[in-house]
Amino acid sequence: MTDLNAAWADRWLRECARVLAMHREELIELDRAIGDGDHGENMDRGFQAVVEKLGDGPSESVAAALKVAAMMLMSKVGGAAGPLYGTAFLRASAAVGERDTLDGPAVEAMLAAARDGIVARGKADLGDKTMVDAWSPAVVAAGHAADGEAAFAAAAAAAEAGALATMPLVARKGRASYLGERSAGHLDPGAVSTSYILRAAVTAAVS
Ligand code: ADP
Ligand code: MG
Ligand code: MG
Repeated sequence: MTDLNAAWADRWLRECARVLAMHREELIELDRAIGDGDHGENMDRGFQAVVEKLGDGPSESVAAALKVAAMMLMSKVGGAAGPLYGTAFLRASAAVGERDTLDGPAVEAMLAAARDGIVARGKADLGDKTMVDAWSPAVVAAGHAADGEAAFAAAAAAAEAGALATMPLVARKGRASYLGERSAGHLDPGAVSTSYILRAAVTAAVS
């Protein structure tokens, strides 16, 4: 079992950048269907900036690494997703606080803080076809695990299921809501990117 420490947090953010670059076109296509087609570009640009800012050196703490992510996502990613993910990582950083490593309850608290930040900022309810539909089940799933790695594994699986479950929904928040009923039949791009971000945390723990 890997410690979810500062080195893991650095690996997580680098893995986010790798995976989001890999899925850039897919996220663009998803956003083209029900938005303005920039989500893949936004996320790729944002996490490349995170990796640049992290540099070579190890981060001092989990909280410090997450705070770098928050700052870069807020400043480099425009639109809806930048401030939402920026807030999520900032609240996550605050929830982690001084902890050197994260156990199951700490992961749950961190994910809950991130989700609550997104909801405070975007005012979306569960089922509105947004990234909240991936984050909320992730928080619930994380609560059933004892150690940190298992909590993230459960959270990532729940986020993936939550993202897939956005397909039939009609969007009630964000750009996709302008389409009304025509937003049904497509995955929400932000819910899908959330599932990649949480899966990256698991990959960073096993690597
Ligand atoms: P924009 O819509 O400004 O172009 P992006 O395409 O980068 O921004 O991000 C779109 C994603 O942001 C959506 O797929 C959705 O998951 C998320 N989103 C938009 N509005 C909200 C909101 N009010 N609450 C939560 N998530 C939202
Ligand atoms: Mg967009
Ligand atoms: Mg946009």
